[in-house]
Amino acid sequence: LVMRHGRDATRLLQILREIQESFGHIPQQAVSVLAAKLSIPRSRIESVASFYSFLHLKPHGEYRVLFSDNITDRMLGSQDLMDQMCQLLWLQPGKVSEDGLVSIGTTSCTGMCDQGPALLVNGRAITRMTHQRVQEIAQLIRNRTPVADWPSDFFRVEDNIRRSGLLLGNTIPYGAALAAAISSGAHIIEPIKASGLRGRGGAGFPTGLKWEACRDAPGSEHYVVCNADEGEPGTFKDRVLLNSHADLVFEGMTICALAVGARKGFLYLRGEYRYLLEPLHATLQRRRESNLLGESILGRAGFDFDIDIHVGAGAYICGEESALIESLEGKRGVPRNRPPFPVTHGYLQQPTAIDNVETFCQAVLALYLGAERYRAIGTAKSTGSKLISVSGDCPRPGIYEYPFGVSVREVLQDCGAVNTIAVQVSGPSGACVGESEFDRKLGFEDLPTAGAFMVFDDSRDMFEVARNYVHFFAHESCGFCTPCRVGTSMLKSTMDKIANGHGTRYDLNEVENLDRVLQTTSHCGLGRTACNPVLHTLKHFRPAYENRLKSLMFSPAFDLDGSLARARQMTGRDDAGAHLKEVE
Ligand code: SF4
Repeated sequence: LVMRHGRDATRLLQILREIQESFGHIPQQAVSVLAAKLSIPRSRIESVASFYSFLHLKPHGEYRVLFSDNITDRMLGSQDLMDQMCQLLWLQPGKVSEDGLVSIGTTSCTGMCDQGPALLVNGRAITRMTHQRVQEIAQLIRNRTPVADWPSDFFRVEDNIRRSGLLLGNTIPYGAALAAAISSGAHIIEPIKASGLRGRGGAGFPTGLKWEACRDAPGSEHYVVCNADEGEPGTFKDRVLLNSHADLVFEGMTICALAVGARKGFLYLRGEYRYLLEPLHATLQRRRESNLLGESILGRAGFDFDIDIHVGAGAYICGEESALIESLEGKRGVPRNRPPFPVTHGYLQQPTAIDNVETFCQAVLALYLGAERYRAIGTAKSTGSKLISVSGDCPRPGIYEYPFGVSVREVLQDCGAVNTIAVQVSGPSGACVGESEFDRKLGFEDLPTAGAFMVFDDSRDMFEVARNYVHFFAHESCGFCTPCRVGTSMLKSTMDKIANGHGTRYDLNEVENLDRVLQTTSHCGLGRTACNPVLHTLKHFRPAYENRLKSLMFSPAFDLDGSLARARQMTGRDDAGAHLKEVE
């Protein structure tokens, strides 16, 4: 295994993941062998293994069952299903059965919100869970049936494309945009800039400017990285692009390589999408055989480029681009200080263009259509279309493609939502949009979004929604900086305290103070946005909090000044200073 990875320590995470797939955990013996073969300390291996939630240094059972704990899975009954499975297998959540057969727990959103409740068994996603399916799975586990022999229907993941636009409905032949880019003399960055294309990962940085900065940065090598670590709860549109439009993704990466002068690219695939690894490898192989990857691509001498796929291991923070690069280098996924930015100091400190899956697809579309046609779609500052991942209280969850500028109300109508009281746009770190704001528009001018669109109707308790998001942040904080590590835990404790009926108005004020601290002292965006779910739901649904608060109006159970009378008598004092009021 180590030889296959070229005894390269930057491959550490991939090696650990493969060991885990073979043994169910990472045995100590393997740690020793790796340390010797890769010439790195054991402590580094253990530190990396303990950072990622899908890797374990101790056995977690032959079958490791993790229920997706996103709020939309909960709304579909995931907690009942987990309780049922625990009962059937005589097990407590978080514990390994005494015979070492199975463990059951939860994990953050698995990216299957349109077909939940979902779970992972030994890293493989199972969708559309029901009580019947829980019984079947419990029986398969009791019979020790290998996961590879479980019914294939369990593992079926639908695309659920409900509305196609120019991107999802594209008929661009494989290699056509790449051939056009090559024959234009690699004239790529100017048309991309002219198209107005902005990154689709949420931040919206102009793609042409990023590619230009990367091309112009000095370095011995340049790299292209596709961020497919789609971990924001409620987002699953990259899953669909990787499943049904992988050629477009790889074509976008190859065009980017031509623009910035890269010879090597990486696609960082989130661990929850492990099932896509083999199909993606097959697509890469087909492209190599068609000379769309490899050496002298499409006959252009000196244009050599290939792509490697790197699978993550359950760390939400690796969606942050500098943390993703650390992870690609085989380290813990801790965000770097910025600046310098990845365009100048990215993978192995070399210039790196890192973009979201959808951005690479949109780049192909923008070049294929031409800047003028592309700019005509969407709004002035948000050109082109956007894929929206719709989940929650609606009869038609799935993927919807709209030109930028579509209103929240229009999306709600299309997905059939009724009695909606709120929409969470762009995941827990995004915005909670109440009924009075449904005419707001999705786009960088108003509501920027990476794609999540979670719908809540009037049967939902928005306090519990916010509490789920706060738990998510506390779980996913990487722990590198104290304000976020401690602050997200404090926030979680505060929300639990309020849920348990022990909160007061003071706690709500403290959340605002905590937000100020986290905003100003957190190292990355996770900490800076961790209080958003509470502050946003407080704005629209304050009664959901106030109904749970303890009243501060109370009558003292005893007379404090009166209880000091005996002390006054004993000391012979009765002046004003010996009375409580005066002491205060
Ligand atoms: Fe890690 Fe949170 Fe600090 Fe970001 S803000 S580096 S997630 S501890």
